[in-house]
Amino acid sequence: MPMKRTHVCPKCQSRKFLVQGEFQVPDQDSSNGVDPFPAFTFSVSTFDRSMIGAFETWTCAGCGFTEFYARDFQALDISQSHGKVRYFDAAAPPGPVYR
Ligand SMILES: [Zn+2]
Repeated sequence: MPMKRTHVCPKCQSRKFLVQGEFQVPDQDSSNGVDPFPAFTFSVSTFDRSMIGAFETWTCAGCGFTEFYARDFQALDISQSHGKVRYFDAAAPPGPVYR
């Protein structure tokens, strides 16, 4: 069970967390800037790329164990990902694999 739901760390049983609504990374070209960290990124053409969604992170304040949850990715068009993202439905009946 995800600790986002249980509010208990599965590694150390702590109940204290550091929660970020949108995980970001440092902008390497500035001293104070931050860059988004999209859930999905792929080239769509020679001159363009698609960046969709973000990650919500839950970090255990006791041991540092972290879970990432993709959010705001409804605009993702898998057919534009050139095979970089595939949809897997474990509940679907067995059949041919579509690519
Ligand atoms: Zn922990």
